[in-house]
Formats: sequence, C-alpha cells, structure tokens
Amino acid sequence: MAGSLDPIETLVALDAGGRGIARLVRPGEARRAAESLFGGAGCLLLTGFVVRPGEAAETDGPSGTVALGRALHRLGKAVHYLADLPVLPLLEASGKALGEPLPLIPLPGEPAAALREARTALRSLRPTHLVAIERPGRAADGEYYNTRGLSVTAWNAPLDRLFLRRRGLVTVGVGDGGNEVGMGRVRRAVGRCLPHGATIASTVATDHLVVAGTSNWGAWALVAYLSLLAGRQLLPTPEEERRLIEAQVEVGGVDGITGQAAPTVDGLPLALHQRLLGLLRELTEYGLAQGDGRRATRWEG
Ligand code: ZN
Ligand code: ZN
Repeated sequence: MAGSLDPIETLVALDAGGRGIARLVRPGEARRAAESLFGGAGCLLLTGFVVRPGEAAETDGPSGTVALGRALHRLGKAVHYLADLPVLPLLEASGKALGEPLPLIPLPGEPAAALREARTALRSLRPTHLVAIERPGRAADGEYYNTRGLSVTAWNAPLDRLFLRRRGLVTVGVGDGGNEVGMGRVRRAVGRCLPHGATIASTVATDHLVVAGTSNWGAWALVAYLSLLAGRQLLPTPEEERRLIEAQVEVGGVDGITGQAAPTVDGLPLALHQRLLGLLRELTEYGLAQGDGRRATRWEG
C-alpha cells in the first residue's frame, strides 16, 4: 500500500503480540477518521468482544472507547454508548473510575432484542458517526470467530448489523485481529497475512478502518489526532488507564488472549500499555508544540 506511516501510526501499529497485523495498517486512515469525527456532531460508540460463554467482555476495547468518547464529549459532540449485557458492567465501572458517568444505552440480553433496541437508538439519536472498537464482525459464513478460528457467535449479539445498512452516516471500525467490524475493508489481506485469516476475516466494512497492535491503541490514535486538530491534549493519562483497566477487571472483564481476570490487555502487561500511552501523549505534545493540526499533518510522510 502506498504511503508511509506517521509517528502516531507507527507507535500504535507496534505488533507487540506478534499477530502479523502490520500489513493491514492503511497509512493516513486514522488521521482521516479523526478529521471526520472532528467535523461531526454526534457519535454512537460500540464496543465489547466476548471470548467465552457466560463471561463479561474482554479488556481490549472499552478503555479506548471511553477515551474516544470523553475526547469527543470535550469537543462538544453528542456522545452515546451502546452497551449490551457483557460490556455494560465494564463501561459503568469505567465511568466511575473516571468520575464521569457515561451516557450508556443498556441493551437487553436476548440478541435479537438487543439489535432492535440498538436500531431504535440509532434512529432516535441520529448521530453523524457510528464507531465500533473491538466488536465482532461477521465472517463470510455469517459466524463470528476468535483469532484461533473458533466460533464465538452464540455469545456476541449481532450488533455488527448496524454497519451493514448505514445510509447518511459515517462509520469507523477499530480492530487488531482481522475478525472485527471494519476489517471487511482489508479482508483479502487478513486472509493472506493472519493465521485462520480466511476463516475469521470479517466482511463488515466501515468508511474508515483503524488497525493497531491492540484496539485500545487504535482508539488512542484517534484521540491523538483529535488533540492535534483541537490544539489541546485529549488523551487519558497512564494513571487513568490503570484505573480503567483495574475497574473493568473488578467487574468481570477478562484478558481476551489469556482469559485471565487480570489487569492485562491482549496478554500484554498494564505497564506496557501505560508506557505506550505516555509516549503517545509525548508525541501529541510535540505535535502541538510544532503548530496546529494542519501543520502537524506534515507527518503524513
Ligand atoms: Zn481484536
Ligand atoms: Zn485486542
């Protein structure tokens, strides 16, 4: 693919888990997604990947989603979160950890009812943007898969359907494994580059696709670009990230790779996430010191 990655993209594309996602990253996509969100009026956010039956959602997704939601709220956008049962406690705990109750739309446990209520919310809120961060997206056979090629369809509500018919709305997908909403944009590359890629590749495409080492990092990249556009730092602090992840694990959040109820994300220790966030904040400060968001796009390369 043409173009090279700027420092923000380079940092969040760090493939610390050795997943082979580097070739899925599309240069400039995250910046363009952020520019679109910056110009929007309202955003409906969706996250939550359930790895095993009966469990709460994994720790990748909610923290980045909350970081993005808070940034957009601070920029005056109307922000709401769709919260089906497995992710609701994680989002509630995240709001408490930040001391800001989040505008959650709780969805019923029955999958078809959850989809119906999500559609009703979409119709009544009329957001300009619909964003999925680490949310299962159906593969060619209609199933949802984990990265090992096993079906997780039975315990993830079919909210990816919201992205299939999406007139009059800009959609953004953030993922790290090829099996999430948005990856339909790069499904052939997922098939070629990732283990079980041909099976798990999501067919659900979004207008913008952000691929990163973990989905939380992809969301942080969006916040970093929003910060450059707004002329102020909007990223959470590493200390806030610690509070978010610990609060999520306390209410049942699990690591999506190890399956453990431990303050890790995708098998990577919390300290690694905090350091990467700290570095991303430094990069953003540097970009802000160089000038405004327009000047900072010299990073396009
Ligand atoms: Zn993932
Ligand atoms: Zn992940």
